[in-house]
Amino acid sequence: ADFEILYCPGKKLGEGTYANVYLGHLVTSPSTLVAIKKIKIQAAYTEGLAPDAIRELKHLQELSHPNIISLLSVFSSKDQNLNLVLEYLPLGDLEMLIKDTEGVRYGAADIKAWMGMLGRGVWWCHENFVLHRDIKPNNLLIAADGEVKLADFGLARSFSDPYRIMTSNVITRWYRPPELLFGAKHYSGAVDIWSVGLVFAELIIRTPYIAGDTEVHQISLICQAIGTPSEDVWPGVSKLPEYTVPEPATPVRGKDHYLATFGTAGHEGVDVLMGMLVLDPRKRITAREILEHSWWSSDPKPTKNEDLPRKG
Ligand code: ADP
Repeated sequence: ADFEILYCPGKKLGEGTYANVYLGHLVTSPSTLVAIKKIKIQAAYTEGLAPDAIRELKHLQELSHPNIISLLSVFSSKDQNLNLVLEYLPLGDLEMLIKDTEGVRYGAADIKAWMGMLGRGVWWCHENFVLHRDIKPNNLLIAADGEVKLADFGLARSFSDPYRIMTSNVITRWYRPPELLFGAKHYSGAVDIWSVGLVFAELIIRTPYIAGDTEVHQISLICQAIGTPSEDVWPGVSKLPEYTVPEPATPVRGKDHYLATFGTAGHEGVDVLMGMLVLDPRKRITAREILEHSWWSSDPKPTKNEDLPRKG
């Protein structure tokens, strides 16, 4: 479909690392508010976007799901910018809620509701052979009805061809899984699941769980927090191009360790978290398995959208 777009002059919603975001509305009746994300073309090129970007993004337009931001249109403008017309999500993002420890209180049922929405969004991506590749709290935007939506598919691309060599320099460092830190060239939906696990952990403790200053530091923090990736727990890991781990090795943490830090998620919640943070990507829980887990039917039940906490 073609849209006629009208910008609301002067209304800038935000500025990101490679894009400015403006409020606009579609000339439809009733008129619909949209967010127009103008991607700076140079940035788009250096990030490996641009020529393929429009084609790839067209693919994302078809990814329709309540927990995935809808991409209504993609066009390039005469200033050479790539423009994404996105569903307008006015209630901020999960990072704002996590950080506002003074103003926003939430509990296990709220976290379960947000994790359910995140899980369903990721499941739908993977079911359609799309990796998100940059899941983190500030890419999880909140709609007016409280629904959490996966946003910022700037780096997402189809993984339907498993032998296509992929770049491992994706995903913001803190949420990056060990296979990418070790330079794996072929990877799967498991990369997103690791990030989802770290979002889950952060929702509980309200601070990033594994926040390395450099890639080397990130790996050493993973070894401390989760355990050292070794041939015993992850056959083949030592053959990855950039495999190095600090000595001495730390054994993989058991459930007691997780319960001590993440006990508010309950026993089953902790099982799900541990499944997401499994070092070997082949043994990591899948999005489908997350949705089928008995955690969802155990108490507390997820909070209803209208009762979820909102930004102050
Ligand atoms: P980048 O990916 O370059 O960091 P973002 O996607 O984070 O850019 O966008 C920057 C800011 O614009 C966000 O922090 C948010 O405040 C706002 N924004 C982005 N997308 C939307 C949207 N769909 N609805 C409302 N605000 C948005």
